[in-house]
Amino acid sequence: MSRNFDVVVIGAGPAGYVAAIRAAQHGKTVACIDEWKNKDEKNAFGGTCLNAGCIPSKALLESSELFHRAKNDFKKHGIKTGEVELDLATMQKRRASVVRELTGGIASLLKTNKIECLVGHGKLLAGKNVEFTPVSGGVEAIEAKNVILASGSSPIEISIAAFDHHNIVDSWSALEFDHVPDRLGVIGAGAIGLELGSVWSRLGSKVTVLEAMDDFLSMADRDVAKVAAKDFKQQGLDIQLGAKVTATKVTKNGVDVSYDDKNGSQSIEVDKLVVAVGRRPHTDDLFSGDAGIQLDEHGCITVDDECRTHVKGVYAVGDCVRGPMLAHKGSEEGVMAADLIAGEIAEVNYGAIPSVIYTAPEIAWVGKTEVEVKESGRTYKVGSFPFAASGRAKAMEQISGMVKIISSKDDDEILGVHIVGPMAGELIAEAVLAMEFSASTEDIQRTIHAHPSLAEAIHEASLAVDNKALNFPNK
Ligand code: FAD
Ligand code: AMP
Repeated sequence: MSRNFDVVVIGAGPAGYVAAIRAAQHGKTVACIDEWKNKDEKNAFGGTCLNAGCIPSKALLESSELFHRAKNDFKKHGIKTGEVELDLATMQKRRASVVRELTGGIASLLKTNKIECLVGHGKLLAGKNVEFTPVSGGVEAIEAKNVILASGSSPIEISIAAFDHHNIVDSWSALEFDHVPDRLGVIGAGAIGLELGSVWSRLGSKVTVLEAMDDFLSMADRDVAKVAAKDFKQQGLDIQLGAKVTATKVTKNGVDVSYDDKNGSQSIEVDKLVVAVGRRPHTDDLFSGDAGIQLDEHGCITVDDECRTHVKGVYAVGDCVRGPMLAHKGSEEGVMAADLIAGEIAEVNYGAIPSVIYTAPEIAWVGKTEVEVKESGRTYKVGSFPFAASGRAKAMEQISGMVKIISSKDDDEILGVHIVGPMAGELIAEAVLAMEFSASTEDIQRTIHAHPSLAEAIHEASLAVDNKALNFPNK
């Protein structure tokens, strides 16, 4: 006899495990199926985010930043050290233990919520039946009243730079190098390419990032991208724009990378090449042909605004559906799907999803860029405030960057907030909350911010929107 659950979730990344927990909080019987296997052959819950994405990358960004600062910035603070040396093995051990503790935490959270954790492959069949193939072997039929597909995404592989998992690698392998490559090539200057490039550049690699597009960080506000480009250049990151990789060849010395730019055909030789050209929805063997699930032209599972698929009672959330491939976006969709299953009203505010790039300086934004606002035809006001005028940033010796706020000219509603500078990824939370409440810049102007704090830069930028900044000359 097959087992029966109110909700079966396929995938235990940030979209799936959160959906499972919320469904259990609603009193539903829940099973969560996941097949993730780490490079040590051990299964772990948490998906890409915890095992191969957000968390290990942030662990290495933190360690490499500390290394860089100890080498370069401590002197300015009057701190003398002996020679600062890298112990990559310990750094990588710490990265792995951060991941292990957090993925272990997810497994125990699921158990505490009485969720049946099923390790193996899940496949949706017709009639909301789920075929579960445990890693231990055999096949089990499971009946579900509701199914949430949360199968995530995988790195895009391009034929001109096929992964050999040694010289030409994906982002996961690039997080697990056991030595610092002398020369590292990165294809793609998106968030992942820039974060990985920063890690290895700080640890001593000569990093070249090849980006096909002419605009740097085309998804970010132009003013923010300009500051970031200047800072990355100063740090020694060589970012080549308008550089379309056309071929690669693995040699005994590394990889020869050919690319075309405005000057014609070019080539570089690197020891390792990271391909970071984006991710694609992962739906391999996720559903049978008669399950009723449809894919769009990008390979995403087709869903409506509430993450409902074409099959009643089947939802899809996270990287396997349209929208930005971000952990917090997937988690919110998971919560929404579980709430809807429980009969509650739920929605995701797709207009207020923050984006963060965890480089130094950090880059974070929410809402529309100035170009997007202009294109929308709405009349608008802009205010910005540089961290160079922030007492806290000066005390931290991190004065590069700024906060820029765009609001509507007619009703002052905040339309976009763009930050490049120290702790931008933390600061953006205030802007997200403000936009969630449809706040005006006047609301932020009238909000007391602690002194001295980096958040004062948001306060001052909101004042600057109306030419009322107090600690920096107005336009
Ligand atoms: P995933 O995390 O990919 O999880 C899907 C899970 O489903 C996996 O465990 C997979 O094994 C399992 N699965 C798939 N199909 C099946 C099946 N048929 N049966 C059983 N199990 C299955 N996002 C951020 O928001 N912030 C960041 O800082 C950030 N940094 C990143 C850094 C890197 C290097 C990378 C690669 C990604 C980063 N991301 C970041 C993106 C983030 O990791 C993803 O957006 C997020 O993991 C998506 O969550 P998800 O639950 O949809 O899918
Ligand atoms: P993202 O999707 O944000 O992770 O960014 C991936 C980046 O890779 C995009 O900016 C693409 O323009 C870039 N890209 C894709 N293919 C190539 C290529 N062949 N050569 C150089 N850059 C590329």
